[in-house]
Formats: sequence, C-alpha cells, structure tokens
Amino acid sequence: MTPRPEKCVGNCKREISLGQTIFQVYEGGYWSTPYITPDRHMFLGNWCVDCFQRDLGHLISSQVQPYSCTICQRPFLEHEPVIYATVGTRPAAGYLRAEKRGNEVHVIVCQDCWQDPSFEKLYRVYRLLS
Ligand SMILES: [Zn+2]
Ligand SMILES: [Zn+2]
Repeated sequence: MTPRPEKCVGNCKREISLGQTIFQVYEGGYWSTPYITPDRHMFLGNWCVDCFQRDLGHLISSQVQPYSCTICQRPFLEHEPVIYATVGTRPAAGYLRAEKRGNEVHVIVCQDCWQDPSFEKLYRVYRLLS
C-alpha cells in the first residue's frame, strides 16, 4: 500500500492542495555528490508543514551535500539506506515527486537511528508500509 500523495500523513489527514508546500518523505539509498537527493525506494508520504513541524520539528534542519545523519551526525556511506525529508510543493495528480525542491534535505537519518525515540513518528509509518 502506498500513501495517497494528496492527503497529509500527519495528524490532520487533510487534503493537500495543488501547489501547497509539503514535507515529502522517502526511504532510499544515499548517493554522494553530484546527486542532491537520495534515491526513492519507498514513498512514506506527504506531510503538511504544520503536522510535520509538530511531529518532527525537533529534528528539522537544513543540510546540503555531503549530508550527515540528523540524529548521530555521522556521514553516510554510498548507497546505504536512509529515510529523508525534502520540502517542495504538491505536484499535479499523476505525479509524485514534489516540485520546487531546493538543493537541501531537512531530515536524513541512517538505519542505525531509525528506532531512536525521537524518530518514532516516521519509523512507525515506515513499519506500516514495509
Ligand atoms: Zn497535516
Ligand atoms: Zn544515525
């Protein structure tokens, strides 16, 4: 099952309108520069800004390459699995990837840290989908 991209995965469960700013979360493999975002193995959903800040606000930062784990701060190995969030706008129906993404990630966590209590809200979504 794949989360519906037009609905907030956070508490509010509200419809996300076209062009609305969202946090978009994937699990995927880390790639070093020149790649900006890790690959997209599994889509974990779109959050409205309010819900994501409420649930994960304590982890949100802004990083450019080379990224390091938001929780343990270590650098990533090529292609290791990470869960990460980018900010963008909801695209038209039929498209998944957020548009107008910057060249940064706002949360990026190594597999060793997925079960950290501070990451619980996202890890629970991952567990439900995998
Ligand atoms: Zn929401
Ligand atoms: Zn870590």
